[in-house]
Amino acid sequence: MVDVAIYLAAGCSGCELSLLDLGDRLADLNFRVIWASPTLGDGKYGRIPEVDIAFVEGGVRLDEQERIVRELRRKSDVLVAFGICAACGGVPGLANLHSKDEILEGVFRKGTTTDNPESIIPQKTVFVDGKYELTLPEFYENVRAVDQIVEVDCYIGGCPPTPGQIEDAVSRIIGGEVGWITTARAVCESCPYELGDGMEGAGRFTKIVSGECFLKKGILCFGPATQGDCGASCPKVNTPCRGCGGPLPAVSDYGAKIVDMLSLLLDEKGVEELGSNYHTIAKLIYLYSMASATIPGRVRKYHVREIE
Ligand code: SF4
Ligand code: SF4
Ligand code: SF4
Repeated sequence: MVDVAIYLAAGCSGCELSLLDLGDRLADLNFRVIWASPTLGDGKYGRIPEVDIAFVEGGVRLDEQERIVRELRRKSDVLVAFGICAACGGVPGLANLHSKDEILEGVFRKGTTTDNPESIIPQKTVFVDGKYELTLPEFYENVRAVDQIVEVDCYIGGCPPTPGQIEDAVSRIIGGEVGWITTARAVCESCPYELGDGMEGAGRFTKIVSGECFLKKGILCFGPATQGDCGASCPKVNTPCRGCGGPLPAVSDYGAKIVDMLSLLLDEKGVEELGSNYHTIAKLIYLYSMASATIPGRVRKYHVREIE
């Protein structure tokens, strides 16, 4: 029997719920969860035991998450980045296109459902009634993928990974496999449609294109550059792939690979349409991997000093 810890950092619990979706098949996985937090148990402030495998779901945004991830690294033989948030930053990593101040301002002062008449922004330390000191975890400037904090042995893509994918990955990890745990086949290889060699422009996904490859019809689909362990779930229900499977092996920057792919498929008209149809193309091509992009998400503005 293999002892396992499961920890949710900056994610949404979807990966753990996908694990639970295995139902009765969970019993065949040959592991027992002896520490979990916070979705499956409340182990966060208890002592973290030594485990064979630690699954970390989500990226790292808070100092508390960093502390627990480092502790899990010390206490585990194998550390797994479980799901695309842990592996590449996931959707929460898109926040790296904004500063911490912009995010706090947007959420706590300008949100459409925000009710904050005193305009209070969360502070790391507050005194209540002048005598009780309360602390919140520190909110970092950026979301980081887990391997930007500690060494990661195994990566599982997907948002979330499918139950079947998890079942297969767990047995391969227990069997000693490391690196990306994937079939290494692109989404297109499981897709029922035939990939073309060009695109008719670059439009948004607003019209139904039933029964044909999205790229052929001029709609962005990231299937050619994405791990297809999901079995092409999205194109099979008439939705373009948005890349949650993660980069194919040997690709270190997923978004750069998408740009490479588009440069092969788009003609001049297509490039123009891409620019006019997508105002924040970075948010689309790095939807799941902004935190692990080669170029950091937020390019700071430089103030040019006037020469006297
Ligand atoms: S990968 Fe998706 S399902 Fe898993 S924690 Fe991140 S957002 Fe949630
Ligand atoms: S629809 Fe998408 S996944 Fe299917 S063949 Fe075309 S590009 Fe590949
Ligand atoms: S088709 Fe693409 S976006 Fe959809 S589940 Fe598979 S990898 Fe994720």
